[in-house]
Amino acid sequence: MTASVSAEIVTVYRALDGGIHHARCGQRIALQGRRADELDFYCLTCAESVPLPLCVISRIPVAD
Ligand SMILES: [Zn+2]
Repeated sequence: MTASVSAEIVTVYRALDGGIHHARCGQRIALQGRRADELDFYCLTCAESVPLPLCVISRIPVAD
């Protein structure tokens, strides 16, 4: 695992409802689109795009 992949994972977490949330603000991020090797999420609260490589999606930690 590269350092950049680890960094991506700490920016988000998966809630018990299955939604992906932004770690910085705790709000759910919305899926905006998909590219060849990553999904583009967007946080309305931070007004910031959050691209996540596909290899990261399955490794997102679940918050309890
Ligand atoms: Zn946010």
